[in-house]
Amino acid sequence: MSDNIELVRSNKGKLTLCHGGFTYTEHSRNLRLLKIYWRCTERSVCNARIHTNLDEAHLRVLREAKHIGHLPDHRAIEAKKVVQGIKRHAAEHPNEPPQQVREALSASTAMRSGTAL
Ligand SMILES: [Zn+2]
Repeated sequence: MSDNIELVRSNKGKLTLCHGGFTYTEHSRNLRLLKIYWRCTERSVCNARIHTNLDEAHLRVLREAKHIGHLPDHRAIEAKKVVQGIKRHAAEHPNEPPQQVREALSASTAMRSGTAL
C-alpha cells in the first residue's frame, strides 16, 4: 500500500487525512511531541488511530493502527475530495455556478452510487 497522504480541508477548516484508502479526522495535537493524532472516520465500527508529524505540508505517518470492521475505500475518498472541492469552490465563488462545477458534481454523484458514503 502506498504511503501517499492527502489532506482535505473542509470549508469549515476541519482537516481530513486520507491515507491508504482510509480517512481520518484530526483528534488532537501534541506540540511538545510534534505529533498530530488522527481517528478513523468509521468510528462506529473502528477505533483505529494514527500519529503523524505536525508539518501539514510534509506529513509522515509515524504510527499506524489496524482497522477493524471495514475495508479501505479509495473510491469513497476520491468522491469525498471532489465534494470538498465543490463546496470550497461554491463558498469562494457564491455568485458563480460554472459548468465545471456542475460536471464535477455529476461525476461525483456517479462515483458515489456504488459506494456507501
Ligand atoms: Zn478504520
